[in-house]
Parts: sequence; C-alpha cells; structure tokens
Amino acid sequence: MGLRSIKEIFITGHGPSSSHTMGPYFASQYILRKYKDIEHIEVTLYGSLALTGKGHLTDYIIDVAFKDISHKIIFNKKTKTKHPNTMTFKVTTKEKTFTENVISIGGGSIVTVDNINEIGAKNIYPHTHMTEIMKYCTSHDMSFYDYVVAHEGKDIYKYFKDVLKVMDEAYDRGLKAEGYLPGKLHVKRKAKAMYEAMEDTTLGLNDVAMNVAIASFAVAEENASGGIIVTAPTCGSAGVLPGCIKYLRMKKVSDDNIIKGLAVAGLFGIVCKMNASVSGAECGCQAEIGVACSMGAAMIAFCFGKEIADIVQAAEIALEHSLGLTCDPVDGYVQIPCIERCAIYAIKAINAVKLAIVIPNDDIHVSYDDSIRTMYQTGLDMNKKYKETSLGGLAEFIK
Ligand code: SF4
Repeated sequence: MGLRSIKEIFITGHGPSSSHTMGPYFASQYILRKYKDIEHIEVTLYGSLALTGKGHLTDYIIDVAFKDISHKIIFNKKTKTKHPNTMTFKVTTKEKTFTENVISIGGGSIVTVDNINEIGAKNIYPHTHMTEIMKYCTSHDMSFYDYVVAHEGKDIYKYFKDVLKVMDEAYDRGLKAEGYLPGKLHVKRKAKAMYEAMEDTTLGLNDVAMNVAIASFAVAEENASGGIIVTAPTCGSAGVLPGCIKYLRMKKVSDDNIIKGLAVAGLFGIVCKMNASVSGAECGCQAEIGVACSMGAAMIAFCFGKEIADIVQAAEIALEHSLGLTCDPVDGYVQIPCIERCAIYAIKAINAVKLAIVIPNDDIHVSYDDSIRTMYQTGLDMNKKYKETSLGGLAEFIK
C-alpha cells in the first residue's frame, strides 16, 4: 500500500475541527472548482457532522465557502451512512442537477467521488507499517528524518519550518487572549491566567508540567476560538505538539532539531492515519489525542538523539496507554474535554519518552503496529455514543 505524504498530517487553517470545519470547507471548495454556472447548492450533513456540526462550526464554514451562492444546509441526524462524516452536495447548475457525496476522513482530508484526496492522493513512501520502516532505516543506516527527506524531498524542511512558525504564532496569540471562547458553554480562556499564576513565585508552580500545560492550553484555546492553527494530526489535538515543543525548548533543543522532529512526528502520524484513523468520529479520541501523544513522544525522543528502537518504543507507549479514549465533546464544542486533554497528553508524551529510555528495548512485547491495529479495532467496536456524536460520556452529563 505505501504511505501518502506526511504533509497531510499538518494542515494550516481555521479551527476548531479538522474533520468538521476544515474538511467541509475543503469539500465546498472542491465543489466550487468542479461545477460551473451554479445556481443553488443544497448540502446535507449526516452522522457526526449532523450531530455535532453546530458546535464545530460546520454550518458557519460552509456559509463562508458559499457566501456568494444561494445555498441551504440540512442536518440529517437520522439517516445512517457508511462513514460517519458524510456530506451530500446537490448542485443545481444552469444545465442540470448533480448529486455528489464527499467524506471528511479526519485531519482535514476529504475523499470525493473522483477518489481525490484533496491534500495528497499519491502514496510516496514504499512502506506501510512502522516495523518495515524501522527495518529499512536500520539496514540503510538512516535516521527517521533521513527517511522522510528521501521520499518527500529536501523542501520538507521548509514545510516544517513554516509549520513551527504557525504553531508559535498560535501559542503567542493564545497566551495573550482573554475573555470567553465562542459558543453557549461560556468557557473562559485560561492560558493567560495560568501563565500569571505560574509567574507568582509564592505558588511554586513554575515547573516543566505547568509550562507544557500552558502552551497546550494557549494553542487549544486558539483552535476552539476558530483561530489559525496546524492540525497535528487534527484540530482538536492541535495543542499536544506545541506543549511538547515547549518542553524541547526548555531543554535547549534548537529550532533546527525541532523542525526535523516535527517531520518524524508526521511519519508516525501518517502510519496511524493510513493503517487506522485519526478521526474521533471513526475511532474516538484515541485516534486524535492518542495519536498526537504518540507523535509528540516520537518527536521528543528523536530530538533527544535517541536510537530508532527507543523512538518507536516511546511512541508505542504513548499510543498503547491512550487506547479506549472516547470522544465526547460537550455540546459539540471542541472545548470540554479537548483543551485540558491536549495538556494532559502533552505531559504524557514526555513521560512516555522517559519510560522508553529506562525500559530495555530488547524485551518488547507490543509493537507500534500492534498498538495501531488495537486502536483501530477498539475504535470500530466502540459504541457510537463515544465517537464525536456528543450523545455519551461528558457530553451526556454536562449540560
Ligand atoms: S474529545 Fe478528542 S476526538 Fe473528540 S473533539 Fe475533542 S479532541 Fe477531538
């Protein structure tokens, strides 16, 4: 099978949701490019898009995309579709009416009737599983970053330099912002207040975990407010890697190394995405924040100069201990539990790396690929209440 470009794991755009905001926006743009002389468009949202689309600003972003065209949005919560994030576009042109299904598969990627993945259709890596990649890199004396460059080209460095810049900008904005996040939950933005509390030396809070948590909060709050962020691998989990980056900077890791580490994180992300899922609607939060945690662990271990086996073990520990994590955003907003969860799992990524360093890697019983397979099967078995429908978990009890 092979793997598509890791670029599709890191997409820059407006939050709060890669599958429910970015995906529908890219789908609408695809429709606009494909059809000419459009008179009216009717968009029907099914499954998770219908159930949590309001909180995820799905209707808002479709309105933005079709601002100059007559259109109507229907939330169909009853009809079952094969994929939970399906949209039907009924496009009336001067000539005739066309109907087309588009699926938002997570992380901003869409699949259309033309089988076009808008972000990257081709498989550019020859390997599919982490075990194969490890074997190849070891036998060719390559680092994971060398492996990425060999298949993506040298320009990949510039791509991740830009990714780091957008992440840093989101962090800076998030740290200054005050007030409430959009929506009816009236959730206060907390990153700035947390930072000020940390600066108060009498409280004794200024440690690694607090710095990491604040960075994750700042970016996750930017996402929740519709700001520009980078998916990693999704919008809801976009705060995890910035928290890990804060840690690397506290450890005096250079930006050059962090940029390469982001590329390595992307490799782990694309292996998860193509062998399982990075969609909360498909496999629960283990596929979003669980994958982000494992990407963060891989990035940190790489930046610390750890050997390939240790990098993979760190990522495996992070993913294994995120298994079963449900997706239950209260009222459909990517706020509760998403923001705090980004912080908790950034800290968890750091601890996964520490464990991987001290646990001997000659006694591994669960491979990274095993964890991915387990995550996927667990996701398929998971009750749909816990897959971005806001029908179960915290969403059921917190009103
Ligand atoms: S609970 Fe997790 S998967 Fe669900 S919307 Fe929030 S971050 Fe995404």
